[in-house]
Amino acid sequence: MPINIQPILNLMQSILQSVGQVSSLLPPFILPPSLLPPSFIAPPSFIAGYHEIAIPVPTPPGITGLPPFIYFDISNLFTAAQEQNIKDAISLVLFNWAVHLTQKWNGGLNNGISQLAACSNTYATKNLRPIWYNGVAITNGRKALEVAMDQFTQMIKDNGLRKSPRARIDWITIPFYDPIVLTTTSTGQTRVPLNFIINVAQLNNPGIGVGITGGSMFHAWLHRAGFTDSNATSYFITECPMCVMRGYQPKIPSIPDSTFYRYFA
Ligand SMILES: [Zn+2]
Repeated sequence: MPINIQPILNLMQSILQSVGQVSSLLPPFILPPSLLPPSFIAPPSFIAGYHEIAIPVPTPPGITGLPPFIYFDISNLFTAAQEQNIKDAISLVLFNWAVHLTQKWNGGLNNGISQLAACSNTYATKNLRPIWYNGVAITNGRKALEVAMDQFTQMIKDNGLRKSPRARIDWITIPFYDPIVLTTTSTGQTRVPLNFIINVAQLNNPGIGVGITGGSMFHAWLHRAGFTDSNATSYFITECPMCVMRGYQPKIPSIPDSTFYRYFA
């Protein structure tokens, strides 16, 4: 599939807009917990129930056996707008995965260095190996990124072909807590459920765009792919999503990394 450049430009623009709004993020409109009824903090999703959403899977060249959609059971507690934000964040993860594979495919030679691989190679030096991995030693960020994106392919196939347990997206609100997408690190390589918990305290913040939510979602996917924290400079699980949030561009000295990774869980 040839990649149309316009969606990439739109994405970069939205990321830059999101980052530009970071300085005005502090949300005075979030009610302090004392003003909320206790049941509002974290009503269990099983009472409200779930409904299934299907998200289209792009078709990068060189990859066979992809499902047309991945599926999630999403809590009925989300508003329609919040649900759309979550869908957009997942689509952004899929988009960057597809761009990497397309650039790596390199017209069939399959030897390309994608922009995401190059950026990760520049900045990521720590925790390059997923928990489950016991292949040839991963010694640089490019190889870590390629392993991670191949694992995304596995996760996408297992979900979309209904091999992994049904994936759940749960609702929580944690006022004055920046991370948006919460999950656990997977220890397995196959049939990994794509379970996430979304902190709507941040999702309700109009200063948070898809560039930030998508970056937090990308970080969470890396946890499901077996990569571990710290949330700190030079760790792969932090540097790789920051590359996505910067549109693969180099770091700007005046913008500290914590501007981005404060949204990672
Ligand atoms: Zn994390």
